[in-house]
Amino acid sequence: MDKNYDVIIVGGGPAGLYAAYKIEKSFKVIIFEKDDVIGEPILCAEGISTNTLKLFFKDGDHPFIRNIYSKLKVKYKDLEANIDIPGRGLIIDRSKFEKYIANKVKEENNFEIKTGSFVVDAKVENDHVKVILENGEEYFGKILIIADGVESYLPNKVGINSVCNLVDMYSCYQQIIHDPNVKDEEIIFDFTPSVAPGGYLWVFPRGNNEANFGLGITSSLDCEKPYKLLNEYREKNYPNAKILREFPGCVSVNQLSRMYTDRVMVLGDSARAADPITGGGIDNALRR
Ligand SMILES: Cc1cc2nc3c(=O)[nH]c(=O)nc-3n(C[C@H](O)[C@H](O)[C@H](O)COP(=O)(O)OP(=O)(O)OC[C@H]3O[C@@H](n4cnc5c(N)ncnc54)[C@H](O)[C@@H]3O)c2cc1C
Repeated sequence: MDKNYDVIIVGGGPAGLYAAYKIEKSFKVIIFEKDDVIGEPILCAEGISTNTLKLFFKDGDHPFIRNIYSKLKVKYKDLEANIDIPGRGLIIDRSKFEKYIANKVKEENNFEIKTGSFVVDAKVENDHVKVILENGEEYFGKILIIADGVESYLPNKVGINSVCNLVDMYSCYQQIIHDPNVKDEEIIFDFTPSVAPGGYLWVFPRGNNEANFGLGITSSLDCEKPYKLLNEYREKNYPNAKILREFPGCVSVNQLSRMYTDRVMVLGDSARAADPITGGGIDNALRR
C-alpha cells in the first residue's frame, strides 16, 4: 500500500475536516482521527453565530442546526440585560456538523479519512514529514496539518512549543438538561463571580426545553469546583431538571506565538485559537 501523501492531517474535528475540504481535489490527502466515529464523542456547548454559517457554509441545507434562538440574557450579580437578537444565534448538533463536513471531504474531494487511528509521533525529515500511528504504521507527506484539539501534543514533536500554562486553560463542566424552565428562544450567560469565578455559566437552548448547561472557570488545582458550582446553580434554578448527559472539558485561550514550521501548520484548538473572551472555538477552527 502506498503511504505517501501530499497532505497529512491529524484530527477529524472542525479544524482538520474544514482544512481538508478547502484543499484542491487534485491533491492526495489523508486525515487521521483517533476516535472510531467522526463527531463522537462531543464535548461542546454547540453555539455558533449565523455569521459563521454564512461565511463557511453558504450553499445547501444545514441539517446540523438544532435551534435558532432570538433572545440573549446576560447576568452579572444583580444586573441583568435582555437583548433581542432575532435569528443571530444557532445551536448546532456538533456530531451531525462534523459528519456533514466529513461527507463533503469524502464525496466531493475524494479524500481518505482513517478513523480509529491514533497518531503518536510526527517528524520533519529533509523533504517530507513522517507520522507514526499507535500500531507502528508510518505515513509520509509533503505537508502536515496538526489539528488534534485542545489536548494537542504533536506540535512539540516538530519543534513548536505548545505547552499550555494552567492559567491559560479554562476548566469546564457541562450537563445536557431537560427542564420546563429552559426557554427555547433564550440563551443565557451569567458572569457573576460567585457563580463562575473568572469565567461564566451558560444555558444554550437546544429546543424542546433541553439545554447545554455548563460553566467554565479559570483553572485551579481544585478539579471538583466546576462540577460543584454547576450543580449548585442547577439545584437552585432548575430544581426539576433531568440530566441527560454530563462531561468535563477544557478550553485554552492563549494562542500559540508560532503556528507553523517547515512543512507543518497547526490549526484550531491545537493552536490554542479559541476566542479568549467567549471560549468559543468552532469559528476560529474553521478560520485557521
Ligand atoms: C465544555 C465546552 C463547551 C464548548 N462550547 C463551545 C461553543 O458553544 N461554541 C464554540 O464555538 N466552541 C465551543 N467550545 C470549543 C470547541 O469545542 C473547540 O474550540 C472546537 O472543537 C475546536 O475544534 P478543533 O477541530 O480544533 O478540535 P477538536 O474538535 O477537539 O478536534 C480534534 C480532533 O482530533 C482528534 N485527535 C486528537 N489527538 C489525535 C491524535 N493524536 N491522532 C488522531 N486524532 C487525534 C480528536 O479525537 C478530535 O476529533 C467548547 C469547548 C468545551 C470544552
